[in-house]
Amino acid sequence: MYINKIVCLKCHGLGNIPYYAGIRDGICFQCGGSGLITEKSNIKKDTPNPKECYNQYIQDKKQQVIKHNKIKELKDKIQELESDLKANTDIETTKQGLINIFKKMNKNYTQQELDAFIDAINVTIKLNNDKICKIKKELKELYKQLYELTNDK
Ligand SMILES: [Zn+2]
Repeated sequence: MYINKIVCLKCHGLGNIPYYAGIRDGICFQCGGSGLITEKSNIKKDTPNPKECYNQYIQDKKQQVIKHNKIKELKDKIQELESDLKANTDIETTKQGLINIFKKMNKNYTQQELDAFIDAINVTIKLNNDKICKIKKELKELYKQLYELTNDK
Protein backbone atom coordinates (compact mmCIF):
# COMPACT_ATOMS: atom_id res chain seq x y z
CA MET A 1 0.00 0.00 0.00
CA TYR A 2 1.27 3.44 -0.93
CA ILE A 3 0.37 6.80 0.49
CA ASN A 4 0.24 9.15 -2.46
CA LYS A 5 -0.24 12.84 -2.62
CA ILE A 6 -2.97 13.83 -5.05
CA VAL A 7 -4.45 17.18 -5.96
CA CYS A 8 -7.11 18.45 -3.54
CA LEU A 9 -10.60 17.86 -4.90
CA LYS A 10 -12.00 20.80 -2.99
CA CYS A 11 -9.74 23.65 -4.21
CA HIS A 12 -8.36 21.87 -7.31
CA GLY A 13 -4.80 22.67 -6.17
CA LEU A 14 -5.21 26.36 -5.44
CA GLY A 15 -4.94 25.92 -1.66
CA ASN A 16 -7.72 28.37 -0.92
CA ILE A 17 -11.26 28.97 -2.00
CA PRO A 18 -11.89 32.55 -3.19
CA TYR A 19 -15.57 32.24 -2.32
CA TYR A 20 -14.63 31.81 1.37
CA ALA A 21 -12.01 34.59 1.38
CA GLY A 22 -13.80 36.12 4.43
CA ILE A 23 -13.22 33.02 6.58
CA ARG A 24 -9.59 32.47 7.64
CA ASP A 25 -8.44 34.01 4.32
CA GLY A 26 -10.32 31.29 2.49
CA ILE A 27 -7.69 28.65 3.19
CA CYS A 28 -8.98 25.28 2.01
CA PHE A 29 -9.81 23.18 5.08
CA GLN A 30 -9.52 19.99 3.05
CA CYS A 31 -5.82 20.33 2.27
CA GLY A 32 -4.84 23.05 4.77
CA GLY A 33 -3.72 25.31 1.93
CA SER A 34 -1.18 22.98 0.32
CA GLY A 35 -3.41 22.08 -2.62
CA LEU A 36 -2.61 18.42 -2.06
CA ILE A 37 -4.24 15.66 -0.02
CA THR A 38 -3.08 12.12 0.71
CA GLU A 39 -4.64 9.02 -0.72
CA LYS A 40 -3.94 5.33 -0.07
CA SER A 41 -3.52 3.30 -3.21
CA ASN A 42 -2.02 0.05 -4.46
CA ILE A 43 -0.29 2.07 -7.15
CA LYS A 44 2.54 4.49 -6.48
CA LYS A 45 1.78 7.85 -8.02
CA ASP A 46 4.00 10.87 -8.65
CA THR A 47 3.14 13.94 -6.62
CA PRO A 48 1.33 16.39 -8.88
CA ASN A 49 2.19 20.07 -9.11
CA PRO A 50 -0.84 21.74 -7.45
CA LYS A 51 -0.36 25.02 -9.31
CA GLU A 52 -0.25 23.25 -12.67
CA CYS A 53 -3.34 21.26 -11.72
CA TYR A 54 -5.19 24.41 -10.78
CA ASN A 55 -4.22 26.13 -14.04
CA GLN A 56 -5.40 23.07 -15.94
CA TYR A 57 -8.67 23.16 -14.01
CA ILE A 58 -9.19 26.83 -14.93
CA GLN A 59 -8.26 26.09 -18.54
CA ASP A 60 -10.82 23.26 -18.65
CA LYS A 61 -13.47 25.53 -17.14
CA LYS A 62 -12.78 28.15 -19.81
CA GLN A 63 -13.02 25.49 -22.51
CA GLN A 64 -16.35 24.38 -21.07
CA VAL A 65 -17.68 27.94 -21.25
CA ILE A 66 -16.44 28.33 -24.83
CA LYS A 67 -18.04 25.00 -25.73
CA HIS A 68 -21.28 25.96 -24.01
CA ASN A 69 -21.41 29.24 -25.95
CA LYS A 70 -20.60 27.50 -29.20
CA ILE A 71 -23.44 25.02 -28.62
CA LYS A 72 -25.85 27.88 -27.90
CA GLU A 73 -24.71 29.70 -31.05
CA LEU A 74 -25.23 26.55 -33.13
CA LYS A 75 -28.68 25.93 -31.68
CA ASP A 76 -29.73 29.52 -32.42
CA LYS A 77 -28.47 29.25 -36.00
CA ILE A 78 -30.26 25.91 -36.44
CA GLN A 79 -33.52 27.38 -35.15
CA GLU A 80 -33.18 30.31 -37.55
CA LEU A 81 -32.54 28.02 -40.53
CA GLU A 82 -35.36 25.68 -39.57
CA SER A 83 -37.88 28.52 -39.59
CA ASP A 84 -36.34 29.75 -42.87
CA LEU A 85 -36.82 26.28 -44.29
CA LYS A 86 -40.42 26.15 -43.12
CA ALA A 87 -41.18 29.57 -44.67
CA ASN A 88 -39.63 28.52 -47.99
CA THR A 89 -41.44 25.21 -48.01
CA ASP A 90 -44.70 27.08 -47.46
CA ILE A 91 -43.94 29.36 -50.42
CA GLU A 92 -43.32 26.35 -52.60
CA THR A 93 -46.64 24.78 -51.61
CA THR A 94 -48.42 28.06 -52.34
CA LYS A 95 -46.83 28.36 -55.78
CA GLN A 96 -47.62 24.79 -56.66
CA GLY A 97 -51.20 25.56 -55.68
CA LEU A 98 -51.20 28.63 -57.98
CA ILE A 99 -50.08 26.58 -60.96
CA ASN A 100 -52.90 24.14 -60.33
CA ILE A 101 -55.44 26.97 -60.14
CA PHE A 102 -54.15 28.54 -63.37
CA LYS A 103 -54.26 25.20 -65.14
CA LYS A 104 -57.95 24.96 -64.27
CA MET A 105 -58.60 28.57 -65.35
CA ASN A 106 -57.15 28.10 -68.85
CA LYS A 107 -60.43 29.13 -70.49
CA ASN A 108 -59.70 32.78 -69.65
CA TYR A 109 -56.12 32.76 -70.87
CA THR A 110 -54.48 31.98 -74.14
CA GLN A 111 -52.26 28.94 -74.02
CA GLN A 112 -49.29 31.25 -74.66
CA GLU A 113 -50.14 33.41 -71.64
CA LEU A 114 -50.63 30.35 -69.53
CA ASP A 115 -47.32 28.82 -70.65
CA ALA A 116 -45.50 32.08 -69.96
CA PHE A 117 -47.03 32.26 -66.51
CA ILE A 118 -46.20 28.64 -65.72
CA ASP A 119 -42.66 29.17 -66.97
CA ALA A 120 -42.25 32.16 -64.67
CA ILE A 121 -43.60 30.21 -61.73
CA ASN A 122 -41.38 27.25 -62.55
CA VAL A 123 -38.31 29.47 -62.57
CA THR A 124 -39.33 30.87 -59.18
CA ILE A 125 -39.91 27.39 -57.82
CA LYS A 126 -36.58 26.23 -59.18
CA LEU A 127 -34.83 29.12 -57.39
CA ASN A 128 -36.85 28.36 -54.30
CA ASN A 129 -35.90 24.68 -54.45
CA ASP A 130 -32.25 25.64 -54.77
CA LYS A 131 -32.65 27.77 -51.67
CA ILE A 132 -34.35 24.91 -49.80
CA CYS A 133 -31.55 22.53 -50.85
CA LYS A 134 -28.97 25.02 -49.66
CA ILE A 135 -30.70 25.47 -46.29
CA LYS A 136 -31.03 21.69 -45.87
CA LYS A 137 -27.37 21.22 -46.65
CA GLU A 138 -26.39 23.95 -44.20
CA LEU A 139 -28.66 22.44 -41.53
CA LYS A 140 -27.16 19.00 -42.05
CA GLU A 141 -23.69 20.44 -41.45
CA LEU A 142 -24.84 22.28 -38.32
CA TYR A 143 -26.58 19.17 -36.94
CA LYS A 144 -23.32 17.30 -37.44
CA GLN A 145 -21.30 20.00 -35.65
CA LEU A 146 -23.78 20.07 -32.78
CA TYR A 147 -23.69 16.28 -32.48
CA GLU A 148 -19.89 16.28 -32.38
CA LEU A 149 -19.81 19.09 -29.80
CA THR A 150 -22.38 17.55 -27.47
CA ASN A 151 -20.92 14.04 -27.69
CA ASP A 152 -17.23 14.69 -27.12
CA LYS A 153 -16.13 14.60 -23.55
ZN1 LIG B 1 -7.69 22.18 -0.98
